[in-house]
Amino acid sequence: PVAVVWFRNDLRLADNPALAAAVDAGYAVVPVYVHAPEEEGAGAPGAASDAWRTRSLQQLAGSLARRGTPLRIFKGPALATLRAVVASTGASAMFWNRRYEPAVEARDARVKLALREDGLTVRSFNGSLMVEPWSVETGQGTPYRVFTPYWRSARPRWREREPWHVPDRLLACDEGPSGIPVAALGLQPSPRWDRTFWDAWNPGEAGAHEALEIFLEGTLDGYADGRDRPAQTSTSRLSPHLHFGEIAPWRIHAAVHAARSTARERHVDTFAKELGWREFAHHLLHHFPETVSANFNKRFDGFPWQTPSSEQWRRVEEGRTGIPLVDAGLRELWHTGWMHNRVRMVVGSCLTKHLRWHWQHGARWFWDTLVDADLANNTLGWQWVAGTGADAAPYFRIFNPATQAARFDPDGIYIARWVPELAGIPAKARFAPWQHPDLLDERSRTYPAPLVSLAEGREAALAALAASARRN
Ligand code: FAD
Repeated sequence: PVAVVWFRNDLRLADNPALAAAVDAGYAVVPVYVHAPEEEGAGAPGAASDAWRTRSLQQLAGSLARRGTPLRIFKGPALATLRAVVASTGASAMFWNRRYEPAVEARDARVKLALREDGLTVRSFNGSLMVEPWSVETGQGTPYRVFTPYWRSARPRWREREPWHVPDRLLACDEGPSGIPVAALGLQPSPRWDRTFWDAWNPGEAGAHEALEIFLEGTLDGYADGRDRPAQTSTSRLSPHLHFGEIAPWRIHAAVHAARSTARERHVDTFAKELGWREFAHHLLHHFPETVSANFNKRFDGFPWQTPSSEQWRRVEEGRTGIPLVDAGLRELWHTGWMHNRVRMVVGSCLTKHLRWHWQHGARWFWDTLVDADLANNTLGWQWVAGTGADAAPYFRIFNPATQAARFDPDGIYIARWVPELAGIPAKARFAPWQHPDLLDERSRTYPAPLVSLAEGREAALAALAASARRN
């Protein structure tokens, strides 16, 4: 018998439940990838994601070809394409791993129903989470809205799963169309603004395992404190690999857990909790799909957000806001497709609070430029930082980018790396150069004045919050 395995954001062979189900049941496997961004709603990938996906698909295609079962790539629509593959290969079953973006969940439900009506065996699996979003609920049977009680309830349900290794050869099916090459999807950026990304990243399953090894060998030991230091490589950098499903979260968790020792306990626990935030983000996305665009906290619906002018927005895109830590983050993002978590928080706070721009502006920019852009995590991150979220930093808690820089980048190394105009002046002047006119050199004088005064921006944000609270 023949089974179609529909690859989506699970671009790996090991620990892939859908593939394992097909192989273990003795099916000949037809691996398929369907490009149908128009069916993904707010989950349709941004440009940096597409650049990563191209490379990851190439890796997956190579691994499958070596096992005698080439990946067949098609342009959508999904249902019609999958039906055509089924008809031409004589497949009697279709397996895939679930996704949780609202439009994709709805599309998948339609596809499942239609294929079952065609007489196919269709099964979907949990390939990307420790626990399914619907399997964790409060005593009242409602979804959690706050992380800590969610975590208390979800954490004990995390189970180790037996590793599943893909055989060297897979039973193949030679019937049906072979599809198009990855390059024909046209996802590679043009012009090639992504060139600078690939010094820092190795997309694909092998790259994901390599990143995990590097984390276990060195970074994990200082994780609990180091994770707030943007100048160091002190986090796992697994986020794009997790987003594209190049490695299973339970494999990462098991490996980190196995490395546990008394000295490492704190680091292991902190890391597990971060994976927990990822789970919580998916829980919220599944139960509250409208929060992709709507405020979780309805009290912010009447908040007097400002709209950035095109000139202001250009300065964000170019990392020339004149606020050093913010610009360092924005430039790191532009050059590498990733930004350190601490800096994401500072950038988010500055745009939504000092500048009072609706969180959707920043969220859209991140969506297009992050290689780890993930609808669940990005939505949670922005709503958290804007104070509009379920379990959020309150709006009145406003990060001061200069103080944050002094605290988490005390030697100004991160700022100097990404904002070289400021590299020649003393560290303390790099945090807020406008406060140290006497310490500036010729090059640092070319750095722009801040887009907003930190003191005035803060006051205006608090005043807007007070006005909006009076109206509620
Ligand atoms: P590590 O610290 O090594 O953490 C391990 C894994 O845990 C990460 O790979 C990630 O999957 C998960 N994780 C860590 N922190 C968080 C968090 N706060 N929320 C949810 N999951 C988390 N993360 C994304 O994956 N995609 C996004 O689009 C995204 N957008 C964000 C936007 C804002 C405004 C903020 C404040 C955070 C955002 N994050 C996003 C969360 C976080 O910044 C990244 O997951 C993290 O920086 C990735 O680096 P790492 O893999 O080295 O993380």
